Amino acid sequence: MHTKSLTELSIDLIQQKLSSTELTQHFLERIDLHRQLNAFITVDAERALDQARAADRRLGRGTPAPLTGIPIAHKDIFCTEGMLTSCGSRILSNFVSPYNATMIEKLRQQDTVILGKTNMDEFAMGSSNETSYYGPVANPWDESRVPGGSSGGSAAAVSAGLAPAATGTDTGGSIRQPASFCGVTGFKPSYGRVSRYGMVAFASSLDQAGPLTRSAQDAALLLQATAGFDPRDSTSVDRETPDYTATLTADISGLKIGLPKQYFGQGLDGQVELVVREALAHYEALGARLMDVDLPNSALCVPCYYVLAPSEASSNLSRFDGVRYGYRTQQYDDLTQMYAKTRAEGFGAEVKRRIMIGTYALSAGYYDAYYLKAQKLRRLIADDFRRAFEQCDVIMGPTTPTTAFTLGEKTDDPIAMYLNDIYTISANLAGLPAISIPAGLSGDGMPVGLHIIGRYFDEPQILNFAHRLQMGTDWHRRSPPGYTS
Ligand code: GLN
Repeated sequence: MHTKSLTELSIDLIQQKLSSTELTQHFLERIDLHRQLNAFITVDAERALDQARAADRRLGRGTPAPLTGIPIAHKDIFCTEGMLTSCGSRILSNFVSPYNATMIEKLRQQDTVILGKTNMDEFAMGSSNETSYYGPVANPWDESRVPGGSSGGSAAAVSAGLAPAATGTDTGGSIRQPASFCGVTGFKPSYGRVSRYGMVAFASSLDQAGPLTRSAQDAALLLQATAGFDPRDSTSVDRETPDYTATLTADISGLKIGLPKQYFGQGLDGQVELVVREALAHYEALGARLMDVDLPNSALCVPCYYVLAPSEASSNLSRFDGVRYGYRTQQYDDLTQMYAKTRAEGFGAEVKRRIMIGTYALSAGYYDAYYLKAQKLRRLIADDFRRAFEQCDVIMGPTTPTTAFTLGEKTDDPIAMYLNDIYTISANLAGLPAISIPAGLSGDGMPVGLHIIGRYFDEPQILNFAHRLQMGTDWHRRSPPGYTS
């Protein structure tokens, strides 16, 4: 049951070969069996089974939506009514949300089941899930390694078959990098495609929600259910949502794949490159054309991001002050001390580092030198893509320079950690859609992701390319050893 695609599961549900209650029970048992992965922060079995029974009634009435009865795991960054929404932080460790994020609401309208809330780096800051207040998540392919981050719990859950699909968010790579490390499909849509309402904000001009699934086809189904204009998110774009499943199998012959030389240079692991080149050869065999493109400002993406993202974070996180909701320190003498102690105790080290960097970059004396400069760079980076996409239809490369690293390996070296997102950050800076799909295994048996970036709002093209590889290969069907049955 846990290796089936969403399409297969929904057919089984609609034909009533399987009930949502049975399906939900199955995944709840698997979550329990593999608790050591620490993929979930909250699981509410009773509530999930209630939702499953309601879905079964709808299925029985013959009025299901495409995903009715499907259990889905949600990153603990999405506000979920009546459930803990911790964002991986102590400061929200007692926050029960009074409302649903639009992402959750849209999926609930179809009567999908909330299987649980997945573990994540604190406030989505991290690339390894090690900054979570709830402890690290293990990579199901090798439990001594990280699952990636910040949507590490979601990626590990899908990879280990603890959930058929999950939601995530991506500010600089947090859907795609963990998808790559855990051998699943992770899709960051264009900025504005999916509502951010009710999604705890990290860096608002970069944050985007998206699916982590077993295939591109499943990603298309989840995107279909969640994309679209939301009047409650001023950055969501009022543009028609296409039928994402309609063009999955379209012919790609004659289409052009741009290969930035900057994505195949120094720092790229040889095994990762090999796997990516094999996938590229597959596309060539399907008639696509490979061509070189130039993204001259690529090297500036990481520094640019680490000025802008912390700046926005320092502002967004100022709301956590112990006054209205969340954690409040036990003892204090006055208001100022209450603020200071609450934040000192409530935030972890990485979050504090970012707040300090951001506050510094935005301060009157340094604003022009850092923040304004980074904004200008961001424009140059977006222009690089605009020019590249005048020549090619999609851009491809590795999702990450290496496969998953070991737990603890980079925790003392923030810069080494930040460099994980060297290939993924640019898509956020430019607002472009991008996917990571499993493309093979490296010599040490760890999954390698292929990264496909598309034009603004060209999700169909990306899904088409991703699906075409998955039609001809079975990398996306592989389960980690130990999780096959
Ligand atoms: N790893 C990056 C960071 O730490 C990206 C995180 C994300 O996409 N949320 O900021």
